[in-house]
Amino acid sequence: NDVAAIQQFTNLAVATMTNSIFALFLALGIIFVLNWKLALFCLLILPFYYGVIRYFHPKIREDSHKFREKQSQVAGTLGEIFNGIKVVKSFAMEDLEMQRFSQMTKDNIRPELELSTRSYQMGSILGSFNDFVVAGLFIGGAAAVMGDQMTIGDYVAFTGYLGILFSPMMALSLLLQVAITAHTGMERICNILDIRPEIADRSGAFSMNEVKGHIEFEDVTFAYKEDRPAIRHFNLDVKPGEMIAVVGPSGSGKSTLMSLLTRFHDVSEGVIRLDGRDIRTLKYEEYRRNIGIVLQENFLFAGTIADNIRYGKPEASIREIRAAAEKANALEFIDELPDGLESVVGERGTQLSGGQRQRIAIARTLLKNPRILVFDEATSSLDTISEHLIQEALYGLVDNRTVFVIAHRLSTIQRADRIVVMEKGRIVEMGNHRELLKNGGVYSRMFNVQEVAKNGSLKID
Ligand code: ADP
Repeated sequence: NDVAAIQQFTNLAVATMTNSIFALFLALGIIFVLNWKLALFCLLILPFYYGVIRYFHPKIREDSHKFREKQSQVAGTLGEIFNGIKVVKSFAMEDLEMQRFSQMTKDNIRPELELSTRSYQMGSILGSFNDFVVAGLFIGGAAAVMGDQMTIGDYVAFTGYLGILFSPMMALSLLLQVAITAHTGMERICNILDIRPEIADRSGAFSMNEVKGHIEFEDVTFAYKEDRPAIRHFNLDVKPGEMIAVVGPSGSGKSTLMSLLTRFHDVSEGVIRLDGRDIRTLKYEEYRRNIGIVLQENFLFAGTIADNIRYGKPEASIREIRAAAEKANALEFIDELPDGLESVVGERGTQLSGGQRQRIAIARTLLKNPRILVFDEATSSLDTISEHLIQEALYGLVDNRTVFVIAHRLSTIQRADRIVVMEKGRIVEMGNHRELLKNGGVYSRMFNVQEVAKNGSLKID
């Protein structure tokens, strides 16, 4: 809407400016030649014009702001309802949501009416000034004609040119109203464009030549909200090629730790180093290129499966894509689809299961070939076969990479070089599976609480 307001202004401005300004000056010149006294009288309204515009301008601006705010709230609510349509339907809340939306649109009528009313008020006051001038002109013109200072022909010409003068003036005043709305739109757009990303390159950021994958967390603390740190004094030294499983109850800070490693956030205190360098001093795009992330819920863009796999390496050939899909255990199901790699996925395309999406995401990451890998295992109950295929695919990724897995499954944990057990943002235990079981601490309790399912899968989160 904001962009549309600017577009409307620019379209109108181009049309009005070129025509109107030219017509305005031409008509003005002619009426001065025809009768300068009457012309001067007509121009008397200009200060009144100015006064009215000055009076209305701030008010219309404010109304316009309010209206746009409400409008974006309505659009936001609508988006939210559609995103959550399954929840809305499953709770049979359609009517309530309809009422909520309807109420919002009704609330939006008031600022819209206020804006329109004020704009029309300004327009009609300016219009009545014109009428006043025309009335004055009848009297002044009649007197001039009767006093032989002007011929009837000149008088008719004068009023004709005055008409030409007024219509651009009205067009310009309309342009002014549109300009105010466009200005509001521009301000709102700039407010967004001016937001500086929290994570940005420092001046003199380093390039990385070859990444080994040595990661150190040194006394890392991070808080989303100032007084409640999600990560507290976290220390961990991860050798290149090591596989670390991070486990712990929900809310213990596992995802936050990975967000710090991937620089979605920067640490509040302490430092994270890659190959001895503070990651904040590295060029962040290069840094991210060296990190592969596979999330629980993987986003697939509207497009073909091949496009989605190619995402991290646009120049990849179909052979490379097939090889990555194969390594990710995805090729088999892809080949069963009627269009294979060219099958369209995303909202309007083929619907894939969670396990299939995750394998495509693994293929995408494989193709990117990062030195460091962050893998958030799906907690959702994948079927045994999917789970097995994903596990296999994951181990295809592990070779020679430093790997962090937010682990929910026994098989992953047992293969990890070290298991980090977290609670309330801290490490409470660390070691491999056997050591931790022997310790009889948090991990072994977590382990014992759960029963190993027949298929050997165990969720410990
Ligand atoms: P886990 O991955 O172990 O379940 P998280 O890292 O998601 O844990 O969460 C750790 C803590 O940080 C929790 O207390 C959670 O409420 C809080 N938290 C997570 N994400 C945000 C966020 N975006 N804003 C504020 N608090 C958050």
